Amino acid sequence: VEGLRKAYGDIEAVRGIDLHVERGEVFGLLGPNGAGKTTTVEILEGYRDRSDGEVRVLGADPASSGTGQKARIGIVLQSTGVDPFLTVRETVAQYAGYYPSPRDIDEVIDLVGLGEKRTARVNKLSGGQQRRLDVAVALAGDPDLLFLDEPTTGFDPNARRNAWEIVKNLAALGKTVFLTTHFMDEAQYLADRVVVIADGTIVAEGTPD
Ligand code: ATP
Repeated sequence: VEGLRKAYGDIEAVRGIDLHVERGEVFGLLGPNGAGKTTTVEILEGYRDRSDGEVRVLGADPASSGTGQKARIGIVLQSTGVDPFLTVRETVAQYAGYYPSPRDIDEVIDLVGLGEKRTARVNKLSGGQQRRLDVAVALAGDPDLLFLDEPTTGFDPNARRNAWEIVKNLAALGKTVFLTTHFMDEAQYLADRVVVIADGTIVAEGTPD
């Protein structure tokens, strides 16, 4: 990302930021409410247009990349809408079906720690379990790069720990993880490198230390 800018009318949400994320890295974008994290990550995902700047994700411009490129990316949004009446396994199978070379369905379910809930319906899962299913859905297509937008907001401490272990598992598989978070401890535990954004500007970057 070079010189990225995004304005919504008079509001300058992102004011010229530069970012570089290495393959295989867990990267944390940290900042308070309204800092511009979601705007930035959704531009990288191809959901929002940018006002100015250069962006390349896995070598392609997300504003114009095709389905082949999109199939290499997994996304966990702040909230996801999956069918509440399907089971966990049916849900992951549904999403796996959209991708050219999906990951094994049961392996994905085990990876996010939902093995015991394989045949449970989505509407019978706890909030934290539904969030794990969101991660499973994002992993179904076996992406190279995963975006996690505030993955543990609203979690209890135990669920947060579990989610952290899931992200560690992803890193061990060699996935690149782009994480946004409000939590210093989360960034410290998970991220190889952190960028802090405030008012649309980068104010600090480096290792968590
Ligand atoms: P949070 O931690 O609360 O999710 P964030 O860092 O993700 O915050 P953004 O959602 O990127 O922040 O918002 C950055 C700024 O842009 C805020 O001032 C917000 O009000 C504004 N903004 C975001 N989306 C829009 C939109 N679609 N239209 C107008 N303004 C927007």
